[in-house]
Amino acid sequence: REAGAVAGTRHAKNPILLARKILEDSPHVILSGDGADEFAREKGLELVDQSYYDTPRRRKALDRILEQSKKDKYGTVGAVALDKEGNLAAGTSTGGMTNKSYGRIGDSPIVGAGTYADNRTCAVSCTGHGEYFIRAAVAYDVSARMAYSGESVEQAAETIIQHTLKDFGGSGGLIALDREGNFAMPFNTSGMYRGFHLSDGRTGIKIFADE
Ligand code: ASP
Repeated sequence: REAGAVAGTRHAKNPILLARKILEDSPHVILSGDGADEFAREKGLELVDQSYYDTPRRRKALDRILEQSKKDKYGTVGAVALDKEGNLAAGTSTGGMTNKSYGRIGDSPIVGAGTYADNRTCAVSCTGHGEYFIRAAVAYDVSARMAYSGESVEQAAETIIQHTLKDFGGSGGLIALDREGNFAMPFNTSGMYRGFHLSDGRTGIKIFADE
């Protein structure tokens, strides 16, 4: 339940490193906008011009959405991890939904919505339509179901994505890991890029549903 988050940064080259710095070195949990960039400067993190974020791929995605010829896509990167001491961690980084309003903040930096980790239960990172993940407190709900109902990480994650979120009208998925190393990666969209790496060397990468 240690946490650090950043929203609306315009110059931090790696917002996830800034979020980590806020966790380690600030009395606050979330910094936004100019204040976040100022904190990054004070801490000596790498800053870039805004044009750094303007990639041809993202520009094309925006143009396509503006033309209304294609549905929105999500592009978040998330990770959950368990170390050998039993510590759970989650990280989520995103440019947010394409064609969002200026100033809009999604679920990724909201602790308990798009990202959450508690050593007593699980680590969770989400992707999808952020507004629904915030309103349903999705990441925290996985942890709460495990703590209060004794559900496994697989049961809790599955129920939330396939029932709670879906019935509410929200699309997306999540990755979740418990302190024994059990994990779940449910989604209610057509696919979700995902992978795992276990300490015994097993790995896996998938996009669509399990066969
Ligand atoms: N969850 C992100 C948001 O709403 C979007 C994504 O997952 O790509 O900002």
